[in-house]
Amino acid sequence: MARTLIRGGLVVTAAEETHADVLVDGERVAAIAAPDVAEAWVPGADRVIDATGMYVIPGGVDAHTHMEMPFGGTVASDTFETGTRAAAFGGTTTIVDFAIQQVGGTLRAGLDAWHAKAEGNCAVDYAFHMILADVNDAVLKEMDQLVGEGVTSFKMFMAYPGVLYSDDGRILRAMQQAADNGALPMMHAENGIAIDVLIEQALAAGRTDPRVHGEVRKALLEAEATHRAIQLARVAGSPLYVVHVSAAEAVAELTAARDLGLNVFGETCPQYLFLSTDDLARPGFEGAKYVCSTPLRPVEHQAALWRGLRSDDLSVVSTDHCPFCFAGQKDLGRDDFSKIPNGLPGVENRMDLLHQAVVDGHISRRRWIELACATPARMFGLHPRKGTIAPGADADLVVYDPAAQQTVSAATHHMNVDYSAYEGRQLTGRARTVLSRGTVVVDDGQYTGRAGHGAYLKRDTCQYLV
Ligand SMILES: [Zn+2]
Repeated sequence: MARTLIRGGLVVTAAEETHADVLVDGERVAAIAAPDVAEAWVPGADRVIDATGMYVIPGGVDAHTHMEMPFGGTVASDTFETGTRAAAFGGTTTIVDFAIQQVGGTLRAGLDAWHAKAEGNCAVDYAFHMILADVNDAVLKEMDQLVGEGVTSFKMFMAYPGVLYSDDGRILRAMQQAADNGALPMMHAENGIAIDVLIEQALAAGRTDPRVHGEVRKALLEAEATHRAIQLARVAGSPLYVVHVSAAEAVAELTAARDLGLNVFGETCPQYLFLSTDDLARPGFEGAKYVCSTPLRPVEHQAALWRGLRSDDLSVVSTDHCPFCFAGQKDLGRDDFSKIPNGLPGVENRMDLLHQAVVDGHISRRRWIELACATPARMFGLHPRKGTIAPGADADLVVYDPAAQQTVSAATHHMNVDYSAYEGRQLTGRARTVLSRGTVVVDDGQYTGRAGHGAYLKRDTCQYLV
């Protein structure tokens, strides 16, 4: 087994910041030791990585991605190969993607289809959530089987009537099943029935440009759905994880639920922290680059999101990475905002944007790691393999240069999409060397990994439930 020693860095986890050396043996972390003790390991190491002046952090865990996802007549532009390679460049070494049940189809068929897309193609490790698009008796039974196979979280949509939408009865039944089998229900919380009325009215009034997407998907309709999802989970006795929270009013619903001691968790994404309706309102058709759901909000909402991240009313930052090219895909909605494919690229940018939040004083360094690595790993049953640096954990490690300066640009990013949502933004900090299970996959801007290195991860159930 190859031994790698990472020397001289500041090891940062959700729990500790320690000047220590990390010994990797094969695919796992073997030991962490004070530098004078680790000196004795140098002769036995096959490779020594100098991390002087660097942080040594766990590889990022992005619990919300959509590689090659079909949406609105097109398909998200990153494949599992390009998307996971871009993730690696950005210091993310685990993704949890969403397999989708077809309406009228089985969960098994949906899961098999996503395994086929991912297998042999990933640069870093991957796991799956399952999207429930058609809850019925057979599907409820299948949920139990999937939990046994390491698919332990099931997402439903209160949005997108006629496509992925589940009504309250179906949601309640799936939540009851989850209460029994230990799974974690995930919710896209927006009142899609009401939103569709507002979309129709806006289009009838001739309002077709991208900014209207943000206006019809009202914060109150996110808050209302969040509230309803929480009450349904209470009735079912299940936990609840609300994805991509963007509105201050929705954070308030989560805060109220958590103040009651409920197993209710919230996720937000970098786009809601760093972008706003000002971007959706960019002139021409430029705003289409920023169309995603939940939508970007007026800039005032950001303060509530940052506060939620500090108070743990929001516990995870994932990307909802779902890229569509500006030319040829976002274009589909040039005359009708409701036809713009929903989604933003971001899997490569998340760790750096959150490090910038550390630099800017929004969150602490350890909270950065907690939000981006440790909590998503525990939330989705990947701890202790992922999300921390500890003896026995997978050697998913990032040597992170906290002083590196970078300018984000589509010209230099590795995602398979023709624009960056953060074009021109100056960031401090960048992943220098990235290891996935002991293998260096990115080194100083060079890709040294390979498609197929990434392995499928069977997950345990959520580790936060009380
Ligand atoms: Zn999503």
